[in-house]
Amino acid sequence: SLSQFGATILPKDVQVGERIGEGQFGDVHKGVLFPQTTGEQVVAIKTCKPEASDVERAKFLEEAAIMAKFNHRHIIKLFGVMSHDSTTYIIMELALIGQLRRYLMTEGAHIAYPILLQYICQLCSAVVYLESKNFVHRDIAARNVLLATPELIKLADFGLSKRLEDTDYYVASKGKLPIKWMAPESINFRKFTGLSDVWMFGVCCWEILMKGVKPFVGVKNDEVINMIEMGQRLPLPPDCPAPLFDLLNQCWQYDAQDRPTFAKLEHMLMAIVEQERLEQPR
Ligand code: ATP
Repeated sequence: SLSQFGATILPKDVQVGERIGEGQFGDVHKGVLFPQTTGEQVVAIKTCKPEASDVERAKFLEEAAIMAKFNHRHIIKLFGVMSHDSTTYIIMELALIGQLRRYLMTEGAHIAYPILLQYICQLCSAVVYLESKNFVHRDIAARNVLLATPELIKLADFGLSKRLEDTDYYVASKGKLPIKWMAPESINFRKFTGLSDVWMFGVCCWEILMKGVKPFVGVKNDEVINMIEMGQRLPLPPDCPAPLFDLLNQCWQYDAQDRPTFAKLEHMLMAIVEQERLEQPR
């Protein structure tokens, strides 16, 4: 049944607009949804091109099935799926500004540390929610964080997410993996857990504090694991206070068990925000 993908949307209720991005399976467009019950809604529309195989189409729809399970202010919401002229569409909440990384690269000079800290706190609340639902995202990176408004982030791209079932970790099959964001146990054994997501969260926070600079630039993927095993970590970003850099380094503990959980990180972040308020009263 299609219900696992949210509502089935009728082609007559959707108007596909300008192209705003490119996904693994096809273009992403802006659009308008005209539902019977509520008013019209601006949406993002992900397409799976007609020439995709059945296996690819199933993988494409898997992301919708995962998004359908979530309801959180900082996670892109699913509206439903649609099929028309052999093309499959996923219709979801639009993050109007788009990729956080691009925004930080272009507007970064005007964005002060308190805003960056706010992004980090919002992202943390999204991953705390995923953790509570027993999901591992597996691709937490600034490229997958979108902006709805200049102060409102939305986590996107659930293409790699997996629900943890009986075992507490997921072993990935071969495929393109984001090595420079990955925990050592994920690189070495393709082992993914809530605590490997914590490592990735640390890398994503670093990218935010670096205003969109990617981790380990100029380092080959093959060399990253050696650097990590030698104890090397990403450097202190400008304007990053010591307690926040300490939090990042806790995310990058070699042994997963030594890393804080997201719930713990959220508390540590609240203390950092509180400290920031005391120092910069507004
Ligand atoms: P990849 O695997 O290469 O990341 P993908 O198939 O997972 O691609 P996304 O990364 O989810 O696709 O989407 C591709 C691009 O489309 C995003 O980087 C972003 O610029 C844009 N985009 C996707 N979803 C949205 C959305 N809900 N709101 C605004 N822009 C979006």
